[in-house]
Amino acid sequence: MPERKWLVAGNWKMNGLRADGIGLARAIAARATGALRCDLLVCPPATLLAAVADAIAGSCVMLGGQDCHPEPSGAFTGDISAEMLRDAGCSHVILGHSERRHGHGESDSVVRSKVAAAWRAGLIAILCVGETRAEREAGRALDTVASQLVGSLPDGADARRLIVAYEPVWAIGTGLTATMADIADMHAAIRSRIPRGTRILYGGSVNPGNAGDILALAEVDGVLVGGASLKADDFWRIAEAGR
Ligand code: PEP
Repeated sequence: MPERKWLVAGNWKMNGLRADGIGLARAIAARATGALRCDLLVCPPATLLAAVADAIAGSCVMLGGQDCHPEPSGAFTGDISAEMLRDAGCSHVILGHSERRHGHGESDSVVRSKVAAAWRAGLIAILCVGETRAEREAGRALDTVASQLVGSLPDGADARRLIVAYEPVWAIGTGLTATMADIADMHAAIRSRIPRGTRILYGGSVNPGNAGDILALAEVDGVLVGGASLKADDFWRIAEAGR
């Protein structure tokens, strides 16, 4: 059986001016030279895609967007298409992040159209799912995520172009993480609903201190990291945590 290779993905969100982004990308790329047991992905804000693409050129670090519009082009002021991300050097795009679902009212069907757009453009979609605190406390975490998967996944999903990120909403940016048992249960439930071989990432306050335990779980294929991805040292220590 081939050795498992995790994906460690950094979601920079709306952070970083040019100098910060280039510095961070260069610092990560400079270390990403040897044989790593994980793939590395950085998802900077759209304004930094071109500069970060240059900064990581020649390294094994991959580039991703944080969102895309369902249409390839047109009168959609402020939006960015999957084709544009691809053209900027992206291989991946994060879709359905809770900050889009809850902050911008994105429904499952909107997310589904964005996943389809990502595939149309040849990108790997990182589809985020996760329950709110109220849903977990009501015992509805598994049902919520199952219904997000049904509603957000277009037909034709396959492991080469889909990654699912389980991100409990209450754990994002809060310093709280799901228990190992809850992560294991949720990842097993997700696994039973998606094509064989699809990577499942965990996200929600991952840091250098907890990454090793999370990555050691059988159904965890990597992590989606927000806050801790903004510091090259922390991001690197997370990448090394699974060794
Ligand atoms: C995220 O934004 O996807 C995330 C997991 O953020 P944080 O690591 O800061 O909780």
